Amino acid sequence: MDLSNVRNIGISAHIDSGKTTLSERVLFYSGRIHKIEEVKGDGDGATMDHMELEKERGITITSAATTVTWECSLQDNKPYTVNLIDTPGHVDFTVEVERSLRVLDGAILVLCSVGGVQAQSLTVDRQMRRYEIPRLAFINKMDRTGADAYNVVEQMAKKLNANPVMMQIPMGAGETYAGCVDLIRMKAIYNDGEKGEKIREEDCPAEYLEQAQEKRTEMLDALSMFSDELMELLMEEKEVPVELINKTTREAVLARGITPVYVGTAFKNKGVQPLLDAVAQFLPSPYDRDMKAKLVDNPEETMDLEPVADKPFVGMAFKIVEDPYGQLTYTRIYQGTVRKGEMYFNQRTGKKDRFSRILRMHSDKREEIDEATAGDIVAIMGIDCASGETYSETAKYCSLENMFVPDPVIKMAVAPKERSNADKLGKALARFRKEDPTFSVFTDEETAETIIAGMGELHLEVYIERIRREYKVEVEVGAPKVSYRETPTQKVEFDYKHKKQSGGSGQFAHIVGYIEPLPEDAEDEYLFEDSIVSGRIPKQFIPAVDKGFKGCTAKGTVAKYPVVSMYVKLEDGSYHDVDSSEMAFQIAARGCFNENFPKTKPVLLEPIMLIEIECPEKFQGDVVGDVTRRRGMIVSTEMREDGSCEIVSEIPLAETFGYETDLRSLTQGQGSSTMELAKYAKVPSNVQEEIVAERNKEAMAGAK
Ligand code: GDP
Repeated sequence: MDLSNVRNIGISAHIDSGKTTLSERVLFYSGRIHKIEEVKGDGDGATMDHMELEKERGITITSAATTVTWECSLQDNKPYTVNLIDTPGHVDFTVEVERSLRVLDGAILVLCSVGGVQAQSLTVDRQMRRYEIPRLAFINKMDRTGADAYNVVEQMAKKLNANPVMMQIPMGAGETYAGCVDLIRMKAIYNDGEKGEKIREEDCPAEYLEQAQEKRTEMLDALSMFSDELMELLMEEKEVPVELINKTTREAVLARGITPVYVGTAFKNKGVQPLLDAVAQFLPSPYDRDMKAKLVDNPEETMDLEPVADKPFVGMAFKIVEDPYGQLTYTRIYQGTVRKGEMYFNQRTGKKDRFSRILRMHSDKREEIDEATAGDIVAIMGIDCASGETYSETAKYCSLENMFVPDPVIKMAVAPKERSNADKLGKALARFRKEDPTFSVFTDEETAETIIAGMGELHLEVYIERIRREYKVEVEVGAPKVSYRETPTQKVEFDYKHKKQSGGSGQFAHIVGYIEPLPEDAEDEYLFEDSIVSGRIPKQFIPAVDKGFKGCTAKGTVAKYPVVSMYVKLEDGSYHDVDSSEMAFQIAARGCFNENFPKTKPVLLEPIMLIEIECPEKFQGDVVGDVTRRRGMIVSTEMREDGSCEIVSEIPLAETFGYETDLRSLTQGQGSSTMELAKYAKVPSNVQEEIVAERNKEAMAGAK
């Protein structure tokens, strides 16, 4: 396979702008499905659920990755392998979204010709920018009443810093929409045949000539910023050859300098083939993207991966799907060649797995293949791993995903509305846990409730929504709760004896030392050391002391939250020949902790979220005021030329619940935000008192 002809792309869109319909047309025109069945057109009322649709058609339109072949008519019908990767519809910073963005080399942004750039597009846009993904835009639904491609382009320029460049102009709009004019070649393109499968090209009709010339000039002007040669030709008022326009467009897209804009209507079968030609011509191949991996033993250091067949294999499992035949592990190959039947090392666990089968997933069938090389995307069968794992030929070669999994910052109780759905709920939770290491599930000891925990309110909401949609289970959710932590603030020396001599065999353990906070930059959250002079406490009992203290870190004495940054030094002690045991020393450590931890003046720590807010400038004052009321701090504010502003702030997680909704009502629906964990910080003492009181109340209620 020639890598330069491979395109790994995703389609991103505001919900309802036509992503599913467009994906299906892509499969149809590339010959993989033979019959179009409809998601009903806008205004027809009942639309079919995607899942039902898939079942009915016996095809997969939203599989994690579907391979199609597109013969590009503008490149001598050269065949391109296009891997269409499903990007999750939700827009939170979940690991899943980040992962699916990482495996893309390029994307198509679908916009509705009437709705234009909606709030959600802004968030998707920010993510794409973060991952430096080059893309094309497709203005869909040109057949709708009120369709206005020029208005959408204007919005793109204003609201997304996308530098949109029209590569086509529409001929008509709404009911009269007829097709488009390709501005590079100045050809009118029509879709004929029942399903628009026949492309007919004509000269540009006279009525659109002036408009086409004007937009073509704008396009060439935009491109001239990326090519001196093109700029010179323009200044000399000479004709610019098509090859030079193509070459420059490609360079400008790869540099993320422009977003070429295409128009059409997926539903009415117009404009999809030219869009596919543009994917082939202008979006990056795997050669065009740099990929760095972290060293397993030293994550600070990185290495470059090369998309060549003859280097050691490196692949990342980016999506896990349960299949009747076992687990399908969708994997992007970043380097080397993967071969069927070989053993490869899971870089995180060090475990070796046999890749018993390798599949290429088409929409209508799976093809078994013997090997696949760098740049490609395949599904592996026979391995049992979590999503996000890196595999390679040798152990400890490199890792593509962070191996450090942050502790969850927020939790909430979940229960099925109907008891009979408990099994289904359990299944859903088990699957999400496997997909996303930052999502966890456990049972609350005190209340016996099922608790889910994750990286933010939205993160958990996304999963609740998926339980509803994908598993058809209605769930009751408790109020979100912050995961606080406890930490000592000063050194306390201890001299603690555990003695029990009533009845049968006695217990005796005596420990002397101190507890103190670990330095702020310490890597460990708990550290135990001893400097026992030989024999004061026999060697075999010392690990028991460590174990005793460590066990206590699960629940601190302030409000039963996990203890972090605690250092324990064991310096001295004594024992009894008969009555001392490992058990006795473990109990001593626990007693010592309960007695002495409160003396370290422990405080609560709370998660602080970094929030990026975007809104029109006129709301800046209100938004900032609101941040302050939430105990927040402004990190920076930046005004944009288009009259919007970006406010970066830090707000304690506890004050962010429902933030998106509040922000929207504060900004008449025009503000949007994204959130991620920034750090932990000390809770102000008055707030700490409230939290402790609340916890005591809960404990009382639990005890009842
Ligand atoms: P998704 O939510 O982005 O996947 O969007 P869908 O593909 O499910 O489309 C949402 C709705 O818009 C469906 O009712 C489609 O039939 C309709 N739709 C999609 N493309 C077009 C189009 O080009 N024109 C019109 N009029 N409706 C469309």
